[in-house]
Amino acid sequence: MTDTRDDFVVSFKPHPGYDAPLFVIKGSTAAEIADKIASVEATGLFATVGNADKTFKGFFLVGSELGGQPVEHPSTVQANGYTPPATPPPAAPAGTPPGMTAPTCPHGTKVFKTGQGKRGEWKAWMCPARQGDPSQCKPEWL
Ligand SMILES: [Zn+2]
Repeated sequence: MTDTRDDFVVSFKPHPGYDAPLFVIKGSTAAEIADKIASVEATGLFATVGNADKTFKGFFLVGSELGGQPVEHPSTVQANGYTPPATPPPAAPAGTPPGMTAPTCPHGTKVFKTGQGKRGEWKAWMCPARQGDPSQCKPEWL
C-alpha cells in the first residue's frame, strides 16, 4: 500500500435532503478525479448507489413501520428529487475487442474499457494497476 494524499475531494448528493446518500470521489490531481468520474459514469455506479439507497430505505421502512419482511426488490420506488436513468449505461469492462491486441505496460496487460461520457462514447486501454496507485499509467484513449 502506498500512502497517497488526496488533495481533491468531490462529493455528490442527488438531492439536498438530510437523507440523501453521499458519494465521494478523492484524488491527488484534478485529472485523476476526472478519470474516476468518467469510470463512475461508465459503470453506472451512480444508478447503483441510488438503487441501493432506495432499497435500504424501502426495507428499513417496511421493517420498522410495518414489521414486515419484504420479499420484492423495491428498485422502482422513486425518491424525491432523484430519477435513476431508464437504461443504465453498459457495464465495463467490455473485454478485448476482436481484431485488437491488448497493449502492455509495466503493470501487466492493459484492460479495454468503453462507456458513455458527457462527450459521447469513450474507449480506452486502462492500466491494470490498483486504483489510486501513483505509478498507474494514464489511460490510452482510442
Ligand atoms: Zn501501467
